[in-house]
Amino acid sequence: MPRSCRQCGTAIGPTIETCPHCGAFNRAERTIWVWLAGGLIVLALFLALGDIGAVLRVAGDLLRQIHAALAPAP
Ligand SMILES: [Zn+2]
Repeated sequence: MPRSCRQCGTAIGPTIETCPHCGAFNRAERTIWVWLAGGLIVLALFLALGDIGAVLRVAGDLLRQIHAALAPAP
C-alpha cells in the first residue's frame, strides 16, 4: 500500500522507514503486523499451556507495545 512521508509528503514504499527526500523517519507499516503475528503466536502458546493469567498479562503488555508503536516518533 503506497504511503507518503509525514514530514514532506514524498511517496515512499511501505517498508521504507527513512524518507529518501528529507530523511525523516517513517515507521514501516509491517511493524504492526509483526506485533500482531507475534502476539497471536504467544497467545496460542499460553492457551496451549492453559495459563490464562499469563495470557492476560502478555496481552496487556502487547497492547501497550502496539500503542507505543502507533504513537508518533518523538
Ligand atoms: Zn520526507
